[in-house]
Amino acid sequence: MAEESLFWADQIARIVKERVDQDPKLKKIVKDRGYICYDEKTPSGHIHIGSGRGWIIHDTVAKAMRDLGLNARFVLSSDDYDPFDKFPSYLDRSKYEKYLGVPFRNIPSPEPGYESYADYYFTEVTSKFEEFGIEAELESTGQRYINGDFNWAIKIALDNADKIREIYKRIYGKSIGAEKLPFNPICEKCGKIGTTLAYEWDPDREVVKYKCVEDLVPWAKGCGYEGEISPYDGNGKLPWKVEWAAKWPTVGVVFETAGKDHFTKKGSREVAVAIANEVYDFPPPYPSSRTSIGKGYEFFTVGGRKMSTSKGRGVWFADIAEKVPPKILRYLLVRTRPRAVIDFDPYQTNKILLLYDNYDKTERIYFGVEKVNERERAQEKRIYELSYVGKIPSKLPPQLPLGEAAMIVQSVNFDKEKALKIVKKIRKLPEKLSTEDIAYLNDRLDSAIKWVEEFAPEEYKFVVQEKMPEAVKKISEEQKEALKLLADQLSKKEFTKEELEEEIYRIAKETVGSRKFFEASYIALIGKTHGPRLAPFLLTLNREFLVRRFRLEQ
Ligand SMILES: [Zn+2]
Repeated sequence: MAEESLFWADQIARIVKERVDQDPKLKKIVKDRGYICYDEKTPSGHIHIGSGRGWIIHDTVAKAMRDLGLNARFVLSSDDYDPFDKFPSYLDRSKYEKYLGVPFRNIPSPEPGYESYADYYFTEVTSKFEEFGIEAELESTGQRYINGDFNWAIKIALDNADKIREIYKRIYGKSIGAEKLPFNPICEKCGKIGTTLAYEWDPDREVVKYKCVEDLVPWAKGCGYEGEISPYDGNGKLPWKVEWAAKWPTVGVVFETAGKDHFTKKGSREVAVAIANEVYDFPPPYPSSRTSIGKGYEFFTVGGRKMSTSKGRGVWFADIAEKVPPKILRYLLVRTRPRAVIDFDPYQTNKILLLYDNYDKTERIYFGVEKVNERERAQEKRIYELSYVGKIPSKLPPQLPLGEAAMIVQSVNFDKEKALKIVKKIRKLPEKLSTEDIAYLNDRLDSAIKWVEEFAPEEYKFVVQEKMPEAVKKISEEQKEALKLLADQLSKKEFTKEELEEEIYRIAKETVGSRKFFEASYIALIGKTHGPRLAPFLLTLNREFLVRRFRLEQ
């Protein structure tokens, strides 16, 4: 990899490396644990595709760091000690209402075979990571609490409760409850963590006094219990902004970004950065620093709607991964700078076709088949390397534009074997292809089938009519004569795409003109006035059939 790569992930990797090189504290941490790129997610239900942007960003930066020769790891934590605070519409209320306020890892899974609610929803997304080329080490924040990893940070937070209170006051301009301590115990009686209030810390005996308050939060009801408990070893958790700051030194994080909504003025990142600096004396990870909050990544929206975990269907990460091939989504997210908005609307649009065309172009540039200037080549090469899922092939695959694949699969009524034969014919590929090439083409045909079934706008869809379409009655005598001329030509020989294109234009020009000629052709074949590009389309169909159809003999 060129040291001066301008690709965004390479730039971040270099900045983080420089920062670590200049900070003895960070230097020691990465020596022990490697360069940790960290992200976290609350498994509160089906997780939206928007979160996928963060995972791809952290994974890509970790890969870029490894290309710099650094021992980098992407670690993703399930924030499974967070309280169940919002009721997803797809959950059975009668079964789950009683768990509002309970940590996700202590709630039963909605499906058998999983340890908990948290495990179920976290696994639903992480089981797709391999398809996305995401190399992540998974961990559980709750487990870290139980293991005692946060004990030291909890003690510091409780010892510095006044300081934390001051930070909140400085940032928010108002004070939070004077008796509230930065710790939420799990109620020993009802098991809820969202309803408890710790109000007294005894630093000598290292216990907190707390009560489980009936009306502390509107979404869950406390049981009224009052008790005293050690704050360590999983008996509770830090409030999440304090927790965020505590994680950085505990885990040893050098890079962690988040959606830009966290980075707003008075946002959670500002609070976490201040706590990391002033309470834990630890440099906050890039894009933040000791002196600046930095900026998060832009939204990833589908169809113009900002993704939110609480509403909207069909934009769940696990769901979309079944429809849009993960490797193409990865390409989109890798090639787009994190600070640029992505509004991806695959439904009833040709966006997926265009994305595939871009991907194929990047691939041709990578293999030197398409020439561009040096700067663009370097950029596209990095995009290809960092977005390719699996092992990069040794030579350019037999590319097949998705649009052409979509036309072919429809022409043969989704018969993949026939489709492959036609691909070989139109693309002039050798009869005998390597296993990799066949796998590549089959994969492209599968994607085309999915695209036609799930996303294609009407104008891209057609069915070759087995019987003469009714609409043929509407075409003029002149148009019919023109079609017969083409039928005569087709009866004489096999055409190549270029020859056929030429022939079509010649006949059209000499007879009814292009527009009327194309219209008549499409009506005769698919009963519609518009269709896929004519010459390649005709080559996908049986020649005898075409001759008969264009002679209007059935
Ligand atoms: Zn309780």
